[in-house]
Amino acid sequence: MALVVQKFGGTSVADPDRIRAVAEHVVATRRRGDDVVVVVSAMGKTTDDLVRLAHEVSAAPADREMDMLLTAGERISMALLCMAIIEQGEPAVSFTGSQAGILTDTTHTKAKILDVRADRLREALAAGSVAVVAGFQGVSTASDVTTLGRGGSDTTAVALAAALEASACEIYTDVTGVFTADPRVVPEARRLPRVSFDEMLEMAATGGRVLALRSVEFARNHGVRVHVRSSFTWEPGTWVVPDEELEVEGMEQAIISGVTHDTSEAKVTIARVPDRPGVAARLFRALADDAVNVDMIVQNVSTEGHTDISFTVPHADLTRTLTVVEAQLGGIGAAGITHDADVGRVSIVGAGMKSNPGVAATMFETLAAEGINIEMISTSTIRVSCVVAEADVQRAVVALHRAFDLGTS
Ligand code: ASP
Ligand code: MG
Repeated sequence: MALVVQKFGGTSVADPDRIRAVAEHVVATRRRGDDVVVVVSAMGKTTDDLVRLAHEVSAAPADREMDMLLTAGERISMALLCMAIIEQGEPAVSFTGSQAGILTDTTHTKAKILDVRADRLREALAAGSVAVVAGFQGVSTASDVTTLGRGGSDTTAVALAAALEASACEIYTDVTGVFTADPRVVPEARRLPRVSFDEMLEMAATGGRVLALRSVEFARNHGVRVHVRSSFTWEPGTWVVPDEELEVEGMEQAIISGVTHDTSEAKVTIARVPDRPGVAARLFRALADDAVNVDMIVQNVSTEGHTDISFTVPHADLTRTLTVVEAQLGGIGAAGITHDADVGRVSIVGAGMKSNPGVAATMFETLAAEGINIEMISTSTIRVSCVVAEADVQRAVVALHRAFDLGTS
């Protein structure tokens, strides 16, 4: 008898029919003899609706109250799912994040999990019940209700799987797994049977929308194997596993596992920044103090004691970024600031890159052949990213997917 954690996202529990279908699956798993802990997201677009509602009564909703409001979404799904499971003849008990023992820090709206004290879940399982937990939430060290940031139910599921030493963490969603590219952009994209934690981290960070980034970090740090699969077809999906596991099996490791893209960022350039110690420190400290999430940063070689600095930020942070940088311009003696919101990032990710030279060159040649201009480049050991015009992003993804032969298995 094993213990499995099954997480169902918003589309998987969007309406009563879906909730009944999920209940059937949970009941079938239970009747095969496994203990089941279920984690649910809020139904459909509930969280978005609640956020909108908050902004109708307040221009800047208080963070503590925002958390109190948003956790209601997951409470609705957990109670309804329990009712549906009980209706099908199996005992089930629901738990809020707090009741499930998810202890967090006090950072409202993006709290970090500090500990999982899952005694009540263990008791429910020992009594023969299915335990259904509200995702995305916990209780802080100050006893306030917190949320883990958008998409946080994935993190709840992985954290519970780690704490309960589950044999697997199944993340059910509306796609059948992790693909070599977004199938809406590249119809011949293939589902990957397996992907390593490191590759999944890079994919999640560069636009792969299947798993929340924090949940992948958590899975890697705690060695939780994650199975991403569909609650619409129920077919086997993609396993996210430790890097060694792929190597040990000696699988024919593809050089590139996937192409990701992201059009949610804007590019900011500061012109003629004096080339002396402390300038970048001052600039990026000011941005950090204002909680701007700076991503790619590129600084040019200097000519005549001056250089340009470009970086990307989420669209949502652009206005704040411009205000902060403008306030710094005089102090650091830079000439001015320009920005471009119509950019996108295209990335290739693959563990095989480490031992195969020429991958970046192939990427640049592919973009060149398409007449696509590269505005910024950044790399990690297993990723190469290029910032290009937003209008070129889809064409770049299609061309790269073809250039690296990702459509054929
Ligand atoms: N309901 C929350 C959100 O929409 C958490 C989740 O679905 O993972 O972000
Ligand atoms: Mg999600």
